[in-house]
Amino acid sequence: MSTATETKVKTIKGGSWLIEDVAPQDVFTPEDFSDEQKLMAQTAEEFMDQEVVPRSKELEEKKIETNVELLRKMAGLGLLGMDIPEKFGGLELDKVTGMILAEMLAHEGSFAVSHGGHTGIGSWPIVFYGNEAQKQKYLPKICSGEWLSAYALTEPHCGSDALALTTRAELSPDGKTYLLNGTKMWITNAGFADLFMTFAKVGGDKITCFIVEKGFPGVSTGAEEHKMGIMGSSTRTLILEDARVPAENLLGEIGKGHKIAFNCLNMGRLKLGAGAVGGSKYALGYAIRYSKERTAFGKAIGEFGLIQQKIARTSAHIYAAESMLYRTAAMIDSILEGVTHDSPDGTQLILRGIEEYAIECSIMKVMGSETLDYSCDEAVQIYGGYGYSKDYPVERFYRDARINRIFEGTNEINRLLIPGLLLRRAMKGELALIPAAKKLLDEITGFPSLKEESAELLAQEKKCVADAKKIVLMVAGAAMQKFTDKLVDQQEILGHIADMIMDVYACESSLLRTLKLAASSSEEKARLHMDLTQIYFAEAAARIEGEAKAALTAIAEGDLLRTQLAALKRFTKYIPTNTVVAGHRVARASLESNGWPLNTH
Ligand SMILES: Cc1cc2nc3c(=O)[nH]c(=O)nc-3n(C[C@H](O)[C@H](O)[C@H](O)COP(=O)(O)OP(=O)(O)OC[C@H]3O[C@@H](n4cnc5c(N)ncnc54)[C@H](O)[C@@H]3O)c2cc1C
Repeated sequence: MSTATETKVKTIKGGSWLIEDVAPQDVFTPEDFSDEQKLMAQTAEEFMDQEVVPRSKELEEKKIETNVELLRKMAGLGLLGMDIPEKFGGLELDKVTGMILAEMLAHEGSFAVSHGGHTGIGSWPIVFYGNEAQKQKYLPKICSGEWLSAYALTEPHCGSDALALTTRAELSPDGKTYLLNGTKMWITNAGFADLFMTFAKVGGDKITCFIVEKGFPGVSTGAEEHKMGIMGSSTRTLILEDARVPAENLLGEIGKGHKIAFNCLNMGRLKLGAGAVGGSKYALGYAIRYSKERTAFGKAIGEFGLIQQKIARTSAHIYAAESMLYRTAAMIDSILEGVTHDSPDGTQLILRGIEEYAIECSIMKVMGSETLDYSCDEAVQIYGGYGYSKDYPVERFYRDARINRIFEGTNEINRLLIPGLLLRRAMKGELALIPAAKKLLDEITGFPSLKEESAELLAQEKKCVADAKKIVLMVAGAAMQKFTDKLVDQQEILGHIADMIMDVYACESSLLRTLKLAASSSEEKARLHMDLTQIYFAEAAARIEGEAKAALTAIAEGDLLRTQLAALKRFTKYIPTNTVVAGHRVARASLESNGWPLNTH
């Protein structure tokens, strides 16, 4: 992997931040972008401004051919081969740069989704699992845009429960061809794709991936779906009726297709998070500029406290999501440092590296998509009646955003995955959650320590993060003790635990970023970062306490519950900052910068 990341960070195990202290210098932040990364961002931004945004109306009018034309134009910049090895014509970019680019494309949801469908889940199966002949045949064409690609897993009767797919693949008696039968549903890019990464069952139950070309006999697509948003993207069924797929187009191994499907989704989730961060900034930017122009009661609406509060809160959420995004991407880059597809076992190492951070990828998917919906919703509100009109941009943003909570694993499925993966790693002894929970129990049953308040910068927030980690351990420990192996059936409790884990990651990522910046600049310069962090903490600390209480009341009752709630009180002593004053400062900075005030690209 060619890496443009100059700032090195400590390699840590996925999820280990939940039980270990992390130092500010150990995380990567957007303030660490290299000149090369900024240059890539500029290239993508110029392409969007000059080529894509002016054609927004055509995309909204469902002119899907415009999308195809733009994708092919983008190939000229190399941006269809971001994750493809250089020897096949790609750029093999580091993950941080990949996320910066995904952010840039988010102004046009239709285009971003089509680009992601092609360069991500439509290409990664070949990049990671293809043999040399398959890579040579397909990857150069994918990079050049000569062939566009799609990923076909979902079926009409199963999306979340993807392994229940019923598309069948049977080998012909001469062993040369597989006959595929079945229907795939909601396939992004289906209307123009030349290639479909298609999942089918061989021998009745062995999930297997095939590279299906549009031109193979028996392959066709249905009509365009009538969607709520991302109008310029193509979404159709893929119909396979005795589709004849040459045996050499089987990808990876028979019966290992689920690994391909899920590993590719991990990376897809992180990229979706990046697009969501970018989209949130665009929506906020429109809202900020509108709030300066629109007057009511004799002044610009951006001067009103409740509008400033929306700007400040939205900004704090974006700050947290952005901090998590680049922290995660850099952790993947760090574990993959020096590894390329050409290294011995390179592809396997890359896959394992990405899998290591599956928890963080799921967190980014959920937090990113929910930050985007929140930002778009508040942007519509700031526009008032005009926000509800198709003549103004935020109406489209609002509709385009909504799909992100549904695809790449719904947010419910990802919420279940987050504690599920953590607990599985704990049970396997890969993550020292159990010893940490035992240590915590000693602390809870002992006398509370009466440490003096520290005068360090953001000392309260540091303590809040440490306490929040203990709350997660306490609640997860109590849930495991009560439900043991039946905990998987307690979805609401797992959901509360997931929400707390996500807020811990968000709080810690914001805090470490701010502390890292403050260590190398004046407190005055770091003021805006501190405000954003403290506004997020004020909300998150209250949320974490609420989630913990809701979970504990579903786990225990009577004296046990009272004891657990008393223990919880020891860890919920955070005193929030004055968010009104901090919010005014954030809003002022945003109004002065005419948009997202921390443009680091
Ligand atoms: C515009 C668009 C583009 C898409 N692009 C692609 C693509 O390119 N390729 C592809 O393969 N697929 C694609 N999809 C499909 C998408 O991934 C699925 O829609 C998604 O995975 C959800 O599956 P479903 O629609 O069958 O909903 P279901 O699985 O039926 O879920 C319905 C609801 O039940 C919840 N639910 C389901 N199971 C559980 C559970 N165990 N616990 C708790 N709640 C649960 C879900 O979270 C959801 O809220 C696309 C979909 C859309 C709308």
